[in-house]
Amino acid sequence: MTRAFDAIVVGARCAGSPTAMLLARKGYRVLAVDRATFPSDTVSTHILHPLGAHALSRWHLLDSLAATGCPPIHTYAFDFGPLTITGAPGTTEAPVAYCPRRTILDQLLVDAAGRSGAEIREGFAVEEVLIEEGRAVGIRGRSKQGDAIIERAQVVVGADGRRSFVANAVRPEHYDEKPPLLGAYYTYWSGLPMDGRFETYIRDKRGFAAAPTHDDLTMVIVAWPYAELAQCKRNVDGSYRKATELAPAFAQRLRGAKREAPFTAAAVPNYFRKPYGPGWVLVGDAGYNRDFITGQGIMDAFHDAELCAAALDGFLSGSLPFQAAMSEYQHVRDARVRAMYEFTCQLATLEPPSPEMQRLFGAIHGKQQAMDGFARMNAGTISPAEFFAPEHVDAINAAA
Ligand SMILES: Cc1cc2nc3c(=O)[nH]c(=O)nc-3n(C[C@H](O)[C@H](O)[C@H](O)COP(=O)(O)OP(=O)(O)OC[C@H]3O[C@@H](n4cnc5c(N)ncnc54)[C@H](O)[C@@H]3O)c2cc1C
Repeated sequence: MTRAFDAIVVGARCAGSPTAMLLARKGYRVLAVDRATFPSDTVSTHILHPLGAHALSRWHLLDSLAATGCPPIHTYAFDFGPLTITGAPGTTEAPVAYCPRRTILDQLLVDAAGRSGAEIREGFAVEEVLIEEGRAVGIRGRSKQGDAIIERAQVVVGADGRRSFVANAVRPEHYDEKPPLLGAYYTYWSGLPMDGRFETYIRDKRGFAAAPTHDDLTMVIVAWPYAELAQCKRNVDGSYRKATELAPAFAQRLRGAKREAPFTAAAVPNYFRKPYGPGWVLVGDAGYNRDFITGQGIMDAFHDAELCAAALDGFLSGSLPFQAAMSEYQHVRDARVRAMYEFTCQLATLEPPSPEMQRLFGAIHGKQQAMDGFARMNAGTISPAEFFAPEHVDAINAAA
């Protein structure tokens, strides 16, 4: 039997579940499907910067996350070797970050979408986007042992990640693409207390970071230029430890800790995709991806979900034509992330900071207000465009 939905959302993690939840809360008939069954892990570390946590708060989900025992993170520390910049990443309204395991965060989001009235189908893989007269009108998919099922909707939302099946089907325009710039391995450690700190270590052609997560574990990710990843693969444990030795005090702490999980490898391309076309929209990584070095993806997915759900509400309620609603979505999405995209891609080269940048770091170091500003910029709380604006840089240098 075929039923009609207002929206079918393909993918039910950071982008899909909030989009489904927000549309369902507006009273729309929403189906969200994912081939995963939750709780489900995915290849991703999981710093959730303060503004990402604040989105959960707007949706009345932050208390539920805190209740899972996820430790709050109040301080970001950026260790460049000669100096460490330590600041608060948040604002009064959104003071702390978290680093929730995806098994827990994604489950919480799926549950919230279901509670809000979206129909959730887990373990359901989409095998075709139905196109009629040039327009997406639904999906064909199946659950693991089931027959093929067709569902129809006014809009098909691709929230299905970097290898988006929906994007592959509708072939959107790509722009500002860059290849994978770094490769990384991450794992989890016990006995490595972080005391509410997210620590990042930046060295020549190496970078690593550590953050406290659920179950008293600490997630540690180590990154190399992409070209060196194949070499690291031959001896992951040795390469990982050798990189951390560039910060001897951290390496010492790691020697006293116990690895509790296998290593996971990752490298991702960078791109924008036009996020809409006849009968379809893209949200989250399906529409925009940036290297994970700045940990923006989950927060971006949350922002996208809000923008996309508002745009779809404009269209589905009849107050705006599809084209007008969705071009505004694309415009606001791109304007919000553009400077961070460039900053992230630059950082992901793991090139040493330029002499001007080193001078700026020296001027920031030790001045708490400037250090907080630096932490906020890296967290995406303020835009790199604002932080690196000539008048702001001049003010920091002058104060130093
Ligand atoms: C190594 C690494 C580290 C990262 N670290 C961070 C970090 O610290 N902080 C941060 O904010 N971000 C981080 N990110 C980015 C973050 O993981 C992503 O931005 C985020 O997961 C995007 O969410 P999404 O919902 O768009 O896509 P995804 O999380 O990829 O979810 C897509 C979903 O779609 C489903 N799906 C796909 N195809 C189909 C189909 N045909 N039928 C049904 N379902 C389908 C999949 O099963 C999946 O559940 C990292 C990424 C990587 C790779």
